[in-house]
Amino acid sequence: MSESSTHNGQPGPVPAKAALAGPAVPLAGESFDTLRLHSDLLKGIRDMGFERPSPIQTQAIPPILAGRDVIGCAQTGTGKTAAFVLPILHRLMQRPTGRHLRALFIAPTRELALQSMEHLRALSRYVPLKGAAIFGGVPMEPQIKALREGVDIISATPGRLLDHVYSGRIDFVDLEILVLDEADRMLDMGFLPDIQKIIRLLPPKRQNLIFSATMPPEILTLVHQILHDPVTIQIGQRSSPAAGIRHAVYPVARHLKTELLTRLLRQEGMTSVLIFARTKHSADRLSQTLVQRGFKVSVLHGDRSQSQRLRALDQFRRGRNQVMVATDIAARGIDIDDISHVINYDVPNTPEDYVHRIGRTARADATGDAFTLVDHQEEPQVEAIEQLLKKTLPRVTLPDFNYGAGGGHKPQGARHGVGRPQHGGRHQGPRHSQHGHRSHRKSHQGGSHGGS
Ligand code: AMP
Repeated sequence: MSESSTHNGQPGPVPAKAALAGPAVPLAGESFDTLRLHSDLLKGIRDMGFERPSPIQTQAIPPILAGRDVIGCAQTGTGKTAAFVLPILHRLMQRPTGRHLRALFIAPTRELALQSMEHLRALSRYVPLKGAAIFGGVPMEPQIKALREGVDIISATPGRLLDHVYSGRIDFVDLEILVLDEADRMLDMGFLPDIQKIIRLLPPKRQNLIFSATMPPEILTLVHQILHDPVTIQIGQRSSPAAGIRHAVYPVARHLKTELLTRLLRQEGMTSVLIFARTKHSADRLSQTLVQRGFKVSVLHGDRSQSQRLRALDQFRRGRNQVMVATDIAARGIDIDDISHVINYDVPNTPEDYVHRIGRTARADATGDAFTLVDHQEEPQVEAIEQLLKKTLPRVTLPDFNYGAGGGHKPQGARHGVGRPQHGGRHQGPRHSQHGHRSHRKSHQGGSHGGS
């Protein structure tokens, strides 16, 4: 399997990456051998180091192999990509044809489109099928060349895909299988009209697979429009992030957030930290400040060029940069092993975004820390998150941090300075802290974060 666009935008085969083999997705009991996949796929699975299928793989592979339409309610980190890639490869291998587009994956972001193609390529090392990743922000030429040579599978973002379609470089006459990956995020990003346009161009008789972490009404409507007698698979409630995640809320005035963040980043165990900011502008500003303070920082948001984004991701993945600052959309679906901490510099707008953000750490049975810096105005959003998670998140303060600097006041109620935090373990959670409780909120809210 080769592809059109690699990290340098050039065509060419890329070996299976260690990054794809690593994280511990929750595994189901049985072995891959029972799933009746082609022996060449089993070899690829073994090379990847996958020993047993994850629950979504156990549940999704048989109906997809049987040609059924499937709705998969699952987030990144569950093994969902292999759950559709493996049976699709198996089906395409049953009836080899000469380089016609037969399967199309549509993803909301370039990163996800590329990641699915990398995953596909790694799993199909022994399979004579050809794939291309098609996304904007990189030169057209390598993609045009790959399309001219013929591909069996495309993993694409909607806009660039339509560019190629309208220029006559892609036709869908032989298309057998459509996958919409992260459908809810495509909706958020305004891609639904493009998706509808693409769907109108596809042969009506085809297999449809939709994966989405949440099922907003617009996606359900789409599901009813295009899926025929679908099998629904629900993996992990959106309200149940991996059990290994240790949450901590740091109440702090807005104008002191960067100062507190700097202190946190200097703690031991902060090896690979993904920081979320709400806007591109605040992501840029924050990363500049952190660089000035001596941190090695990657930035990931939609206004960066494709090559900047790929380089940023790569440096963070390889551990060259300790920190990556990202916006929600840019980080969506990104698969990076061993993120030690997720820090919410801004509280996410929706509780679902909180679950998505912290899903980047503590993949499955691993552990990881999720810290949230909370200004008093953001308390209602924290309350919504707590309602979704059905638990109170512990409040934490750093004992020797000057919460009153610049006119602010020390948050009340989140006691500190005595003993160890509740959670220890791999990453040495918030080392100097003591957890307060919900009772803190009222005093904190009424308190004074002047200047924030
Ligand atoms: P995904 O949810 O598709 O983004 O996959 C998350 C990560 O889990 C990827 O790095 C996969 O390579 C990995 N993975 C997928 N399936 C398995 C499996 N059965 N065993 C171990 N790792 C897996």
